[in-house]
This record gives sequence, structure tokens and C-alpha cells, in this order.
Amino acid sequence: MSEVRLRFPPSPTGYLHIGGARTAIYNWLYARKHNGKLILRIEDTDVERSTKESIAGIIDGLNWLGITWDEGPYYQSDHVREHIDTAHELIATGHAYKCFCTKEDLEAKRQAAMTAKMTYQYDRTCLQLDQEEITRKEADNSPYVVRFKVPEGGGSVVFEDKVYGRIEKSHKDIEDFVIVRSNGTPLYLLSNVVDDIRDRITHVIRGQDGLGNTPRQILIYEALGAPVPEFAHMSLTLDPKKAKISKRSHGEVVTVQFYKENGFLPWALVNFLVLLGWSPATDQEIFTREELIQAFALEGMNKANSIFNYTKDDPKFITDPKALSINAHYLRTMPVADLLSLVKKELLAENLWDNSYESDKKNWFCNTVDLIRSRFHTLKDFVGPGRAYFSDDYEFDPQPVKKNLTKHKKISEWLGLLADRFAGLPEFSKEEAERVTRELADELGIKAGILINGTRTVVTGQAAGAGLFDVLMAIGGERVIARLKKYSQEGLN
Ligand code: GLU
Repeated sequence: MSEVRLRFPPSPTGYLHIGGARTAIYNWLYARKHNGKLILRIEDTDVERSTKESIAGIIDGLNWLGITWDEGPYYQSDHVREHIDTAHELIATGHAYKCFCTKEDLEAKRQAAMTAKMTYQYDRTCLQLDQEEITRKEADNSPYVVRFKVPEGGGSVVFEDKVYGRIEKSHKDIEDFVIVRSNGTPLYLLSNVVDDIRDRITHVIRGQDGLGNTPRQILIYEALGAPVPEFAHMSLTLDPKKAKISKRSHGEVVTVQFYKENGFLPWALVNFLVLLGWSPATDQEIFTREELIQAFALEGMNKANSIFNYTKDDPKFITDPKALSINAHYLRTMPVADLLSLVKKELLAENLWDNSYESDKKNWFCNTVDLIRSRFHTLKDFVGPGRAYFSDDYEFDPQPVKKNLTKHKKISEWLGLLADRFAGLPEFSKEEAERVTRELADELGIKAGILINGTRTVVTGQAAGAGLFDVLMAIGGERVIARLKKYSQEGLN
């Protein structure tokens, strides 16, 4: 069997959005699974809207996600001449013709069809022109478009879409479509096919919005005598109100860049995106790279559109909760050694990094990261709710402050006493810290939970986390005592 070859052909008119990334991921998985090749082709023929920044952003996004390609980036704009030559080749072989009809003529015919309540289709006026007339118009430099000549007779285009099944479109329902504009530029429909033929593409996995192009594109393949690739059109990803997702209406949250900048692990995003539109044969949801490549099959692609359950109202993080929970899963279970450099980056960005975390305090750093990650969702949490472990300047979550501190009139006095007990310990160990806490609670006639919750709130600013006495060990006796004392004397400020 010949080599399996796929392509990811983004139009560089914006950022890499999650829909585009999903397309890239499916093509990549298919190529990897079948020991094939993935080609990156930048479809930049829309000169007005294509930008260098967008190309750089797409490449950066793919690199970050770990989507590797084997050839390219190729640029569609390098092949415009070839696209036009192909159109002329189609004219020469009788599969296309020059159409000199003016915009006004066409518009009048369209209007007439509308008035008669008939569907408009180009009436092939220029197909009837004899060679003499054509030569005369050419000599006059009359502007023309090139139209593809759809085969006559009662045939149809039939193909087996790998997701949507058998699709048939009668030739009579396909207008002789334009392949070269009157300004001489080729249409996307043509360029895309010419490039796919040159790149020897065997499988086209693209959005369902491309389905309308496929019958016309197949006619071009056939006219050129080129093998037609397999097509798999993917369902779309919509927002909860079933609207198309776009940066304009949803903001940064639909861009890959957003996840990169907001503490996501690239593989977690890949894992999330792949499940938007594809289901494995089992109910497995978390996949390693190898597992995903093995499990991926076009048969698992969903016909129904998927929903990106993005919510603007979640104060924790504005994205699909499933994306967040998959990220949390990886963050909490990955080898801690692999996490350290990522946490280091976050700390560096916030000026909280200390070189000792890689020398004398290496063990402390590793253990602390491991301890606190169990409640975290993104890398940003290490400098958000986790800040108190790396700095004395941290925020207090108002909810636990209210519940664990403000509510108890005498809490600052009690926590001052606890600080003294901690200070009196010959060794600030987990067992001893717990023992004196419980002892003090008994003496004061209060529940130990009051001291425990109050202490957690003061020393971490947070409502929840790992077991308090583990937390205290990580923060260290000196800092714990200083924070409790400060609170008992000055309150929170
Ligand atoms: N450049 C097209 C896009 O970004 C690609 C369509 C295709 O895959 O054929 O939508």
C-alpha cells in the first residue's frame, strides 16, 4: 500500500483556535497511527488577510501542543502559477472554459430566476461560444473567469465519507463553478486540490464545513486524472448555545495561546480536544500519547457536533470544566520530577524563584510541589493559592477568613497562644505540632478544628489543602510561628 499522507492546511488569518488545533490533532494521530506523514501547508493565498504573526502563532501553538509534522511548512502562495496553469490545462482538455459574462449579465439572470422562483445556476452561455468568438474576445482583452465544466448527462459524484457515510450529489445540481477569477487569481477550491495532488495527500480530515466543497473538488481530481483521497469530515465544535465558537464572541479562551499562558499542560489540552468529536471504543478518557495513537480510529468520530462547555461565570477559570479537570488530572499525577521545571517557570515569572530550590532546598521544593498539587488545576495555582509556600506576601481568600477567623471572637488570642506553644517545641515536627494543637484546644475547651482551620487560613490564606500538619511542615516552623504571631498582634493586613 502506498504511504499514508495527511495535511494540516491552516489559513493564517488569525490565531490557532481550538477547532483548528483539533483538526491538526486528528490528522496527526491518523498519520502517526498509520506510519504516515503529516504535512503542514500554510494556505496563505488570501494575501489581504494572511499575516506573518498568524503563521508564527500557528507554528508556535502546534509546537507547544507537541503536534509534529514531517514536511513543510509549505506555502500555498508559492504555487499560484501552478494553480493557474492547471486551470489552463483543464481548458485545454475540455474540462473548463473561459466565461466572459459580465457581473451585470449574471446578476440580471439571477434576479430573473428569483422572480420566477427558480433556483439560479449559471446557464453556460459561454460554453456555447464558438472558437471564433472566443478568439475575438481574447483579442479585445475582455475580462473572463475560468469555469469548471461539470460533466453533462445524468451522472453524479459519489463518495464514501469516513464519518458521514455515502454522499451523492447529482451533476445537474452543481453549477459550472469558477476556478480562476477575472483578476487572474485561482480560487481556493482549485488551489487546495492542486496542492493536495502535488503533496500526494491520501486522506483529508477536515471540518464538516468543508463538506460542501468536496463534490466539486472530486470533479477536479477526476478531470485531472488524479487519485481521489479519502475524506473524513469532522463534526464542529459549538458553544453551549449551539453557536460557532470564535474569538470575537468568546475571547481568548478559544485560542491555544490562552491555554499556554494560563497554566495548561499541552498534553492535557490535546487529550481534552481529541474527545471533542471523537470517542474511543472503551470509556477510557485519559490517554498517553502512545495509547491515543493506538486507540484513534476514524470510526470513533462523532457525527453530532460537540459542545465546548465554556462558561463565563466560573470564577475559577473560564473554560470548559472538563478541560480543567483533565488538566488537573495530569498536574496531580504526572511524575513530580517533570513538574518541577514547569513550576519553576511560574515562580520565576512572579519573582518568587529561589536558586536554593535547586540546591540545598531541592528536597523541600520537590516535596512541597508534590504536597500542594493535589488540589490544583493549573500551573498558575502554584503562584495563586500556592503562593504562601513561596512568599510571605500572599492573599487571603475572604470566605475562609470569614468562616474560620472573623466568626470566632477570640481566635487571634488563641492562635497567639498556639504560636507560643509551637515556639516552645524543641523540634517542630508534625507529631509534636499536632499534639500541642490538640492539647491547647482541650485546655481552651474548644474543638481542635477551630485551631486547625484558623491556622490554615492564617498561614496559607486558603480554605483547603493537604492535611494541616503536613502543610505546617512544608511552610516550616519559623514562618508558621511568625505568621500566627503577626496575625494575633495585627490581624490580617
Ligand atoms: N485552509 C482551509 C481552512 O483553514 C483548509 C480546508 C481544508 O482542509 O481543505 O479552513
